[in-house]
Amino acid sequence: MKSVEEYLRDAEQAHGHLCAGQVLGVRMAMLGLQKLGIDDPRGKDRKRLVTFVEIDRCATDAVGVVTGCRLGKRALKFRDWGKVAATFVDVSTGKAIRIAARESSKDLARQMHQEIADKNQQQMRAYREMPDDDLFALQWVKVELPPEEFPGYKGERVTCANCGEGINFRREVRRDGKNLCRACAGESYYELQ
Ligand SMILES: [Zn+2]
Ligand SMILES: [Zn+2]
Repeated sequence: MKSVEEYLRDAEQAHGHLCAGQVLGVRMAMLGLQKLGIDDPRGKDRKRLVTFVEIDRCATDAVGVVTGCRLGKRALKFRDWGKVAATFVDVSTGKAIRIAARESSKDLARQMHQEIADKNQQQMRAYREMPDDDLFALQWVKVELPPEEFPGYKGERVTCANCGEGINFRREVRRDGKNLCRACAGESYYELQ
């Protein structure tokens, strides 16, 4: 693994700026990997890890930079829960650890660096210095990962009986003996104009 500083430089490049969220994300991912004993996530261990992120903000980009897990590789799973938290799953052992940023870390950052007026700067500094235990809460968890959730899953592609679009990874909904895509099954996030 690289150092915090090296990862922060990488994260800054990938994300477009350096911010408190990047520091949180880098440290969160490094801690997760360390707890799982994964030390080369982009090299020899690159197929061992699946990461669930619970927010689509700054920290998420940094988690991707450190872990190498990406949406397009199916190794990054997004659960839109609005929480600065992530679960790191070692698929080779089944071990998984969920790490959440502590609510108290913001107040602690203020206490640590009252002399810094800018909140982002203040948190950036404090989040680099704070011990892991002050920054994060850890839980060992179990994550049910069916075969179709694995990055390398090769499954059959089915066609929606209603719209004719192809559906991968068993995302179809079976209804009255027909395969429907989730949009046609009523879960659509859009309406036709
Ligand atoms: Zn940011
Ligand atoms: Zn459809």
